[in-house]
Amino acid sequence: MAKVSIVRCVDYDGEKVGDALFRAVGLLGGIESFVKKGEAVLIKPNLLSARDPEEAVCTHPEFVRAAVRLVKEAGARPLIGDSPGNFFTIKDVDSVYEKTGMRRVAEEEGAGLARFDKVRVINGFPVAQAALDASAIISLPKLKTHAFTVMTGAIKNSFGLIPGLFKVECHRTKPKPRDFVKVLLDVYSIRKPQLCIMDGILAMEGDGPAAGTPRKTGLILASSDGVSLDAVVSRLVDLPLHKDMIINEARRRSIGEADINNIEVTGEAIEDAKIKDFKLPKTAHNLNLLPDFLTNIFTRVIDFRPVIDEKLCQKCEVCKNSCPVNAITINGETSQIDREICVRCFCCHEVCPYKAVYIKRNLIARLLWRD
Ligand code: SF4
Ligand code: SF4
Repeated sequence: MAKVSIVRCVDYDGEKVGDALFRAVGLLGGIESFVKKGEAVLIKPNLLSARDPEEAVCTHPEFVRAAVRLVKEAGARPLIGDSPGNFFTIKDVDSVYEKTGMRRVAEEEGAGLARFDKVRVINGFPVAQAALDASAIISLPKLKTHAFTVMTGAIKNSFGLIPGLFKVECHRTKPKPRDFVKVLLDVYSIRKPQLCIMDGILAMEGDGPAAGTPRKTGLILASSDGVSLDAVVSRLVDLPLHKDMIINEARRRSIGEADINNIEVTGEAIEDAKIKDFKLPKTAHNLNLLPDFLTNIFTRVIDFRPVIDEKLCQKCEVCKNSCPVNAITINGETSQIDREICVRCFCCHEVCPYKAVYIKRNLIARLLWRD
C-alpha cells in the first residue's frame, strides 16, 4: 500500500527542520530505505526563479540543507540541481542558485551543484544527464498553487529535469492545461524520484506559483510515490477531485496510487492537518472540464489573460524570453502582451521576478470565481 507521512514543523530553524525531515522519512522506513552508501543522489528542489526564500516561490534552503544532511548520514553523495522555470543560460542558473541560497548550502555542506547542461533524449524529451546518472533522486517540491495547473507538487517538480528552452516548447505545443498535464506525467514517468519530501512549512496560496501569497502551513509530507503525495495534498487543501487535473491524469494512466482510499497516511491524520480556506488560483481551470467546443464558446465571454503592469515592469525581458509564441513586446516605450497571439500558458506570470504580470479577469470571470 502506498504510504504518505505528514509531520509538523513550524519554521525553518535548522535544527527543527532537520528533526522534522528525519521524522517524516523515518515514518517511511528511514533514509537507508531509499539511498545506499556511496551512491550519487540528486536532490531536486523547486527553484522556479531567482527569489528570496521568504517569498515561498522556491524550496527553502534550510529544507534543502536538511535533505542534504540526511543523504550524507546515509553515506551517500548529495548533488543539488534544478532547471529553473524557462531560464536558458548557465549564468541564469547560477543567479538562481545564488539568490535562492542553494550555492551557500552546497558550499557549507560539501554538496555538488548540477547545472543540467547536458541532456539525453528519452521518449522525445531532453532529460538532464545528471538526473539519469544519479543512483537516486530525492524530489523536494514546494506546496503551492499554480495558475495553469491549479496546484504544483511532486509530479510537476519532475518537469524541472527538462532544461529551460524545451519547457517553453512544451507550453507552445500544449497550450491547454488538460493536455499539458499529460506532458507532466510523461516526464515524471521517465525518471521517477525514489523519495519525495514536500516543503509545506511556508506554502503559497492564491495566484501561484510566483505571484501568490505566502502562507504559514507548518507541514512536511514525504512519500516514495509522488502521485500519492500530491493526492494527499489535494485533500489537505480540499481541491475538488473533478478539478484535480494532474491526479486525474495519473489515475487514468495508472501511474502511482492516486486513490486516497488506497493510501496509508502516517504521522498526522489528514483531518488534523487540513489547511483551512486555502485559496486556489483565480484562473480558468473550471473551463478545462468542458469539451473543446464549449470551452471555445465560454472563452469568448469569460476573459482571463496576463497583463503587464507598466509601473512595476523593469523591462528585464525575462517574460519575453519565456513566451512560447512571441506574444510579448518589451521596449523603451511599452511592455505589452498581444492578446490575439497569447495562448494563456501563464509562463510570463510565473517567471516575472517583479510581480509585474498579473491575471486580468473580466466581470463575468470575477463573478464566476469570486475570492
Ligand atoms: S513584465 Fe516582468 S519579466 Fe517582463 S520585462 Fe517586465 S519586469 Fe521583466
Ligand atoms: S504572453 Fe504569457 S501567457 Fe501568453 S503565451 Fe506568452 S508567456 Fe504564455
